[in-house]
Order: sequence, then structure tokens, then C-alpha cells
Amino acid sequence: MSKHFDLIALGGGSGGLSVAEKAASYGKKCAVVEPDRLGGTCVNRGCVPKKVMWNAANINHFMQIASSYGFDIEKKGFDWTALVSKREEYIKNINDWYINYLADSDIEHISGVGKFIDKNTIEVNGERYTADHIVISVGGEPTVPEVQGAELGITSDGFFELTQQPKRVVIVGSGYIAVEIAGVLNTLGSEVTLLLRGQHILGRFDALIRETLTEEMINSGINILSCISLDSITKTDSGQLTIKGAKGHHITDVDSLIWAIGRRPVSDKLNLSAADINVDKQGYIPTDEFQNTNQPGVYAIGDVTGQAALTPVAIAAGRRLGDRLFGGQPDRKVDYSNIPSVVFSHPPIATIGLTEGEARKKHGDAVKIYQTRFTPMFYSLTEHDQKTAMKLVTVGAHEKIIGCHIIGQAADEMMQGFAVAIKMGATKKDFDDTIAIHPTSGEELVTMR
Ligand SMILES: Cc1cc2nc3c(=O)[nH]c(=O)nc-3n(C[C@H](O)[C@H](O)[C@H](O)COP(=O)(O)OP(=O)(O)OC[C@H]3O[C@@H](n4cnc5c(N)ncnc54)[C@H](O)[C@@H]3O)c2cc1C
Repeated sequence: MSKHFDLIALGGGSGGLSVAEKAASYGKKCAVVEPDRLGGTCVNRGCVPKKVMWNAANINHFMQIASSYGFDIEKKGFDWTALVSKREEYIKNINDWYINYLADSDIEHISGVGKFIDKNTIEVNGERYTADHIVISVGGEPTVPEVQGAELGITSDGFFELTQQPKRVVIVGSGYIAVEIAGVLNTLGSEVTLLLRGQHILGRFDALIRETLTEEMINSGINILSCISLDSITKTDSGQLTIKGAKGHHITDVDSLIWAIGRRPVSDKLNLSAADINVDKQGYIPTDEFQNTNQPGVYAIGDVTGQAALTPVAIAAGRRLGDRLFGGQPDRKVDYSNIPSVVFSHPPIATIGLTEGEARKKHGDAVKIYQTRFTPMFYSLTEHDQKTAMKLVTVGAHEKIIGCHIIGQAADEMMQGFAVAIKMGATKKDFDDTIAIHPTSGEELVTMR
């Protein structure tokens, strides 16, 4: 006989854990199905290990410029293997914390790959489980192109499995994961080439941010090659890779090739047709604004929906869905507008709302832009500087702020508070009326003319 639950979450990542946790807090009987370590992409192969590597890279960067502040530092080395082992220990603690948390919350942890038998029944390792509500939160995985020898490269998943630092690296991709990995490896001393299929990195970002980061990446020694289409990848007897571009580009002696060309939803193993659940051409599961799929009682949240693929978004969707289904809050849902996000590049980027281009397309001449570009005080003593650039996108007579874009040191920590203000409908005057905090880079956002 199958075991029955109020709610089953398929996937124990950011979204699945959050919805089960919320439902359990309302006294509901819940299960989380997860074949891998608990925590999902963010904890195991995303945000968390990425931020550890970014922190390490920043320490190296500060050591390189410490002499400008009077320090006489001799760097004796950097032990990648030791860092990776500490990082994985930290992640293991998070995995264990989740195991205990599920047990303490009476949420059943079903270990295995889940698939639909019908809209209320899931099968895992041959066992059947039924539920009134089933939440699909299976996330995504990195894609690899169809190029001869593509299997010789790794993805972001493989990057986090590297136990030795690669010396010569080629990264293919232009999105945030590509620029983050490029920045980390370059700052830690690897020789990095970034291959772009198109012209620019971070195509969907504001031009000021994109251009400033491109400049900073080139200044810091990253080799960026645009408009490259790849022909083949081969391996020499000594294990080095040779990367050939279609127009005669040739990169030899590569230790590691990293594909960062995008991600795809992993909905194909769910047997969705058995439950008549719609899926789009790319495998994303469409939902309405309340995370309902086309099948009543079945919901989708997080990366598998193809909307704003960020951890806090998956968490918010899970929690709000739990509130809606079991907490007597029938209108509770995620507002997908004005979602702030950060790119942990070198320097970091923080952004919210519309880019200037998007705003002009939508609001035409009603848009007014405020922007600045400067060397932050921190770099005024150092030989090499790193620029900061900021842009406020406003609309209408009241100059409501509809976009804010920052690149520069500490941008990652600057945005969260401004995001609250922008979400609340702040205008340029509200920013101007706020007393600046001096001396900081953030004060520029409230003193722009
Ligand atoms: C390199 C990288 C860096 C990132 N950095 C950031 C960042 O800095 N900030 C940020 O906000 N976001 C970041 N993200 C994105 C973030 O990780 C995702 O948006 C988030 O993890 C999505 O949560 P989710 O619950 O939808 O999916 P996931 O966290 O991917 O969880 C899905 C889970 O479902 C499981 N699963 C798959 N198939 C099945 C099945 N059939 N049955 C049961 N379980 C299944 C998987 O094993 C997985 O554990 C990053 C992602 C990557 C790849």
C-alpha cells in the first residue's frame, strides 16, 4: 500500500525544502524526494561553493595590493586542495543540518529519483507515495554544446569538483556563471581565456555595467575573445586540450575547458505525461502567478519554471505556496518584479529593475538617467585601481526609480537596502533626501546629479 502525504516536494533544493518546511509548520504531513545531497544546486554546486571561491579570490586580490597600504607581505603559496577540502566540509555540515532539520520537523526524506505515476502518485525506487499536493522543484543542470570533443570539457558542476587549480583555462559562455568563474580563477592566478559566441558578456545587463566589467576583466588579465564559434576539442597524449574555432582560432595547452553556456530544466525524467502536466519546448514547466501548473494539485517552483533562476526566488515561491495552501492566505504569491540580484564578478555587480535600454523601450522620453563612474577611495592609494559605476533609471515627473545598477567594490552588500526602497516605490527625491553615509561608495547613490 502506498504511503499518503499532504504534500510531496520533488527535489530537496532551495524550493522543495522551503515549501515542505512551510507546510510542515502548519502541521501538514510532508515528504521531500531527493536523489542527491540535500540543499540542491545552491548549497552543493552553486551559490555556496561559488561564494567561498570568490572570498578566497578577494583575499588574494587584497594581498596583491596590501603593499600600497604599507604592508610588507610575502605570499608563500595558495593551497587550492586545502581550500576545496574546507569548503566541502562546510557544505557537508549544511547537508547534515538539513538531514537533522527534516527529521526534527517530521518531514520524511525519501532518497531517490521521483517520477509521476499519476497526478497524485509518485514512484521512487519502485515504492509509491501519494499526496494531495505535489510540488515540482527539481531545478536544472548545466548544458554542454554539440561540438566535437565537448565531453573533454567540464561544467560549473565539474569546476566545483576540481581538486587542483588548473593553470591554463578556457571558459565558454557570457552569462553570470561564466564571468564569475573567470574572475575567481584569474584572481587566484590561473591564465584565463573567455570565449563568447556573441559580442558581449552579460548581454541582458545595463550597458554601463557590461562595459565597465569588460574593461575591468581585460585590465585584470582575462583574455576575452568575442564572436567565436567552436569547431572541435581534442586532447594531446599529455592530457592538454586543444580548442579549435571555426574561423581558425586555435588555443593549445589548455588544462581545463569549462562550459558555462546555460542551464536546462531537468523535467524530462519526471514522466510528466502520466499526470498530464504541460511542459514547454525547452522543458520548463509553465505556471500561473500562484505556481499552479495546468494540473490541479500539482505546482512548480524554482528553476524548473524558467523564471528568475535564483535561490531566494525559489525559497520565496516555496514559502508563499505553503502559506497559500495551508496557512489561510489565498492571495499569497511571489511578486516577480524588481528582484535584486548580484553577480560575484571582480568587481561585483548588483542590479534591480529595468536597464536603461529596457526603460527607454517601455517609457520612451519619460525616462531620466543619473549615472556616475569613479575610483573608490579604497583604490586611491593603490597602483592599480578598480572602477565603480552606478546608474539610476527613473521615470516620470516624480522620477520614480525603476532601475538601479551598480558595479564596484561592495556593490554586493550595497543593494539589499536600496532594493527595499525601490520595491516600496522610492523616487529620486527620496534618495536625495536621505543623508549620505560618508565616506562610502554607497553615498554616491543618494548624491547623484
Ligand atoms: C554555479 C552557480 C552559481 C549560482 N549562484 C547563485 C547565487 O549566487 N545566488 C543565487 O540566488 N542563485 C545562484 N544560483 C542559482 C541557484 O542555485 C538556483 O536558482 C536554485 O538552486 C534553484 O533552486 P531549485 O529548488 O529550483 O532547484 P535546485 O536547488 O537545483 O534543487 C533541485 C533538486 O532536485 C533534485 N532532483 C532532480 N530531479 C529529481 C527527481 N526526478 N526527483 C527528485 N529530486 C530531483 C536535484 O538533485 C536537486 O537537488 C547559482 C547556480 C549555479 C549553477
